[in-house]
Amino acid sequence: MAPSGDIPKHYDFAEVEARWQRTWRDEENYFDRSSGKPRYIIDTPPPYPTGNFHIGNALNWCYIDFIARYKRMQGYNVMFPQGWDCHGLPTEVKVEEIHGITKNDVSREEFRRMCRELTAKNIELMRATLRRLGFSVDWSNEYVTMRPEYFGKTQKSFLKMYHAGYIYQAEHPVNFCIRCETAIAFAEVTYQERETTLTTFLFDGVGIATTRPELLAACVAVAVHPEDERFAKLHGKRLTVPFFGQKVPVLKDAAVDPTFGTGAVMICTFGDKQDVHWWKEYNLPLRKAIDRRGRMTAVAGKFEGMTVAEARKAIVADMKKAGILRGEKKITQRVGTCWRCKTPIEILSERQWFIRVKHDEILKAAREVTWIPEHMRIRLENWVAQMEWDWCISRQRIFATPIPVWSCDACGELVLPSEDEIPIDPTLTRPKLPCPKCGGTKFTPEEDVLDTWMDSSISVLNVTGWDGSGTPPLFPAQLRPQGHDIIRTWACYTILRSVALTGQKPWDGILVNGMVLGEDGFKMSKSRGNIIQPEEILAKHGADAFRQWSASGAATGSDIMFNWNDVVAASRLQTKLWNIVRFILPKIGDEPPDEGRVTALADRWLLTHLSDTVAAVTAAMESYAFDQALKALREFAWDVLADEYIELAKGRLYSGGEERGSATAALSITLDALVRMLAPFLPHFAEECYHQLKGRPVHHEPWVKFEWKDDAARGQGDLLVRLVAELRNYKHDRGMALNAPFGRLTIYAGTGVEDAGDAARALNAEVSWSTEEPGLERRVRDVKFNMSVVGPALKGKAREFMDAVRKLPPGQLENPPASLVLKGCEVPVPAGAFAPDFSYAIGGKDVDVVTVGDVIVAVERAP
Ligand SMILES: [Zn+2]
Ligand SMILES: [Zn+2]
Repeated sequence: MAPSGDIPKHYDFAEVEARWQRTWRDEENYFDRSSGKPRYIIDTPPPYPTGNFHIGNALNWCYIDFIARYKRMQGYNVMFPQGWDCHGLPTEVKVEEIHGITKNDVSREEFRRMCRELTAKNIELMRATLRRLGFSVDWSNEYVTMRPEYFGKTQKSFLKMYHAGYIYQAEHPVNFCIRCETAIAFAEVTYQERETTLTTFLFDGVGIATTRPELLAACVAVAVHPEDERFAKLHGKRLTVPFFGQKVPVLKDAAVDPTFGTGAVMICTFGDKQDVHWWKEYNLPLRKAIDRRGRMTAVAGKFEGMTVAEARKAIVADMKKAGILRGEKKITQRVGTCWRCKTPIEILSERQWFIRVKHDEILKAAREVTWIPEHMRIRLENWVAQMEWDWCISRQRIFATPIPVWSCDACGELVLPSEDEIPIDPTLTRPKLPCPKCGGTKFTPEEDVLDTWMDSSISVLNVTGWDGSGTPPLFPAQLRPQGHDIIRTWACYTILRSVALTGQKPWDGILVNGMVLGEDGFKMSKSRGNIIQPEEILAKHGADAFRQWSASGAATGSDIMFNWNDVVAASRLQTKLWNIVRFILPKIGDEPPDEGRVTALADRWLLTHLSDTVAAVTAAMESYAFDQALKALREFAWDVLADEYIELAKGRLYSGGEERGSATAALSITLDALVRMLAPFLPHFAEECYHQLKGRPVHHEPWVKFEWKDDAARGQGDLLVRLVAELRNYKHDRGMALNAPFGRLTIYAGTGVEDAGDAARALNAEVSWSTEEPGLERRVRDVKFNMSVVGPALKGKAREFMDAVRKLPPGQLENPPASLVLKGCEVPVPAGAFAPDFSYAIGGKDVDVVTVGDVIVAVERAP
């Protein structure tokens, strides 16, 4: 189809992007279950529906969309599903805020309904941003984890893993957030430096230093280093805990640091992870002094009911009163905090549900997956190596997948529903049968719910078609794209669950993207005020500019700093590309991209560069190096096509000559290939151009396969391009208009070059290529002085010096003497003071000479 001829001068991104978004149909991106093409399934991250699709999400989705679009063009049956990871505390908190209630003011079911309602609204907002960014999401494979059809699968996976011995219930020390009032997993504990007070006091006559004096009530032992002579007499003794009176043993343990505090430490249940070690190793009793809300228990005697901070203050005051306080000093300490609310975590012994962590299984599967970049695999391996505790999967919350379990009131037996009763909420439904152990009919439902990662870690099973048993039909997926901040959670848990449920790795590869930092180089946060919303960038520069920024900002896996200048540069490239297209389209008209018609040197040269670019872009796409792909496209379009080729071949395109067809065929091939390669990055722009060019959608086209091997054209074309550039500079330097008549140029290139008259037209000159030796006659026309040398060195004698130099024989102008005699005085000749200015002639005719490498051009300027 011929281009319309009325291509707008300016590229109006807002109009174009909105128009194509209205035109494109969702069905075009659906995964086709009946297709015979190779499949490419992406385990897209399901974002948390906050209502705000932030810039970090947008970066990750750009990567996914580049891959999805590229793979479709490469002939794959692509699934780019979109999930929503709904459950969790932030939504509960938001609901409480919006409705001005606490979760205990309404029934669990009503509270859940409010959470679902808010979540549905937020998903709607985020869907709109996804569409506005031009992502080719497969909406037929959307999933929402709060819906029964999804959380039913979470529950089925629970049953399967319970029956396979992976899941168990136990009382065990767990990380507990007293603000969120729930257990959390180790993967959700983040460490922060905090200032705290180290209190030293006399413990039954022994000096002990602690940062947690309020845990005195929970003290179960004192430990010292076995070789610490200061405490040798205490070995085997029992000490009495001040204020609380329990008798505790003194243990020798090499893990005690004799240089910290007094060298003696108290072991409490539980101050930290080390306490848990000792508690297990020495089989110590359990004293629970802190409850789930962070209040002191009855074990703490008169301090019962106080918060941790209140108890600390009161106990230190009592130590002072009792005369056993020996000192207080400020120290900094690494404190484990809740990743959501930053409250310091407590280690509480709780009845919770756990998943057994089988390190070898996880590591084996992780090594079967291709990690991009490779070093991200080490992060996972390091994390797995240090996982000492099993994964605590129960949470004391409401808006989450219910744990499908009851316990028999008579005998304590745990009763699980059968798979066909799923999805189920055990607080609303009773077991169908009496207790299998004792026949009892009274049951207590499990009120704890599942960790949100229990939902999201089966996303890959869900998208590959899992119905709750066996291995899903499309398993494993081809790619998991995700951020490096959730390797220890989402990546690790997904591998664990896939191996447990299918015995296989979840995906062929995992692509890890970096974080987006603010313009100040820091992580974006409300408190820093450095957050940029994708919507703001969309309004100013459009989706394609944003996508270009994502591609070119950094190598995949690296953090990327946001910078408005980069977005502006991206939109400039779009303008440049539009101008190229607008210039080329009317010239090529209906020309078919017929390689056989390409004969002229410059055209063949263009195609060798196009061929290189196709190879470079394809290789970059295959290795997810989007920055490299876009860089190759940009350099080809801007430098090679626009600045070099079009400048050279423009004249031929305007001429009616027979070699015009060679140029139009080359341009037709080039533009078609260029637009198709731009399509994954700039889907709107490419669609607009391709419709002008071909009258059909670009996104259904195959990926470019183009090869052009032509070493002669490469070498001679490079020379031609360089010569024309140098000679244009020559004109410019001499104040000639670029289109002014130049005169006669003889190019002594050594080999015959047939340039189809391009050099002549580009330079407005009479050009002849010669294979002969130039036979130049050279003579000195004048002397050029360097006054910045001559002036300072000779001062008042400068004029005399210059006169004397002009009288020197030509040989001495090229090789100056060491000194000159001026008025009887010998004056040294400063280095670099002058040089001969040669003039040339060929066959007696004066010419100018321009040299480019070994090539000499004789210029006989027009009069
Ligand atoms: Zn918390
Ligand atoms: Zn029973």
